[in-house]
Amino acid sequence: MWLENLERGLDRARLHPLWDRVGGALQEFWSLVFPTECVVCERADSSLCVDCAAVLRRATVRPFRAEHGAEGLPEAEGARTAAGAGYDVFSPLPVVAAGHYAKAVSAALLAFKNHGHTDIGRWLQAALAGALHEARSTLCGESAELVLVPVPTRGASVRRRGYDPLALLLGGLAKRRELPAGTTIATAVRLGYRPSSLLTLVSGGLSQKGLGSQGRRRNVSGSMEASPAILDTGFNRPCLIVDDVLTTGATISETARVLRAAGAVVVGAVVIAATPAPNGVGETTTAVVPGIREPPPSQPMEKNRRVGVNSNNG
Ligand SMILES: [Zn+2]
Repeated sequence: MWLENLERGLDRARLHPLWDRVGGALQEFWSLVFPTECVVCERADSSLCVDCAAVLRRATVRPFRAEHGAEGLPEAEGARTAAGAGYDVFSPLPVVAAGHYAKAVSAALLAFKNHGHTDIGRWLQAALAGALHEARSTLCGESAELVLVPVPTRGASVRRRGYDPLALLLGGLAKRRELPAGTTIATAVRLGYRPSSLLTLVSGGLSQKGLGSQGRRRNVSGSMEASPAILDTGFNRPCLIVDDVLTTGATISETARVLRAAGAVVVGAVVIAATPAPNGVGETTTAVVPGIREPPPSQPMEKNRRVGVNSNNG
């Protein structure tokens, strides 16, 4: 237990600006005293060994369109206009994903989000940055200014983890000026209070884990509201919603509902990983760049497979 607390403390220290200067030496010392293992293959090494880092990079280097098969997504912006023009096809909000939620990607995401491995963040940041740049250039046309809106995280989760995973990833990219040109981050949407959420909060809270697509939709429907700051100023700007994992799209849909009600134009969403759609619809995702390569088979990862999909989002 004390070791776990110590590790968590160290992970928190990594977020401190001073870490960049002394962190490397400290980490080397730490790994000598307490050998750590790769979160994917469990080989005694760093949190992510060189081989698995390479697999992760290959699996997220070609962003692709992932909206088809995520049946909880809202309509694309302007879809109603198209319907008026005679089209009768539901056109979902475009989503750009860095990779598929499988193998190294899922293990790294889970370790980063739920097990304090914030040192894996830099690989996930690279994946997210690639997807953001892809979405910026393919979805947003010529709009000079684009607002990145992360889906909200529960305060209780942030307190338990000691950090907000999405904010940590986006904040790091902003600090290093690796966000696409003309983009700013705004926490424009937050979780609101609703009586029905009280029960789920008591029982562990608004987790989407284990819910089907309809359950997920019900679970998040009406759960969010606009931040007071944007209600005061209005928010009629083009937005990209940012989330870590796309499952059914229910969380993105709820975020889009709030943004659109506040006057925003939601041009799409960006995720690090997209889960395969039920009945394999996701297999036919539209590749933005043709030729997505499946990562080579990775090392055994039984430990992570047991954890399974554990996104708090949709
Ligand atoms: Zn490994």
